Amino acid sequence: MYSSLISKIEKAKRYAEEPERISLKSFDIAFRGDNGTHAVSLHGDEWSCECDHFRTSGLCAHVMTLQRVFGAHLADSVRYTTEHVPA
Ligand SMILES: [Zn+2]
Repeated sequence: MYSSLISKIEKAKRYAEEPERISLKSFDIAFRGDNGTHAVSLHGDEWSCECDHFRTSGLCAHVMTLQRVFGAHLADSVRYTTEHVPA
């Protein structure tokens, strides 16, 4: 049993070095920005943030930060939202 646990730990170490194995499907986050704390969430293909900028433009620094921090763990459909950025 002990050797079995060791093999699991070894596997976990290997998996941990391969972040693309892990996909975040949804989460709810408290994001402490410069001007206050905002609730940010991802559910399926939908980002959401309670800040004013997200409400008016559908994108904000909080969501873009999470896309950078968790990029390796996000599906392509929610990793980049540059189509919202004005040319
Ligand atoms: Zn925001």
